[in-house]
Amino acid sequence: MRDTKTQKNRCLRCYHPLTAAMDIKADHIPKNGDLSICIKCGAVCAFTDNLTLRPLTKNEIEKISNSPEIMWDLRNAVSLVYFVQKVKNKKVLEN
Ligand SMILES: [Zn+2]
Repeated sequence: MRDTKTQKNRCLRCYHPLTAAMDIKADHIPKNGDLSICIKCGAVCAFTDNLTLRPLTKNEIEKISNSPEIMWDLRNAVSLVYFVQKVKNKKVLEN
């Protein structure tokens, strides 16, 4: 896994500040069109050529919906986000 610094972004759904990206499967550096999942809420967006975020296009949504492999990866990544948030919230409540 590799962290890549990105432009300072805000999630398009929850406005959580995002300043880096990490590929959970490989040492991939994000590029234009790659998917981004918000670490706070799990929203799926896409990177632009300068690593800011944009909403998915209708064609991208259709391509994702028709790909069991991409859907599987997204489901796993979003589940990971929800798990991390659950653990993080539990720690906050314990302190
Ligand atoms: Zn978000």
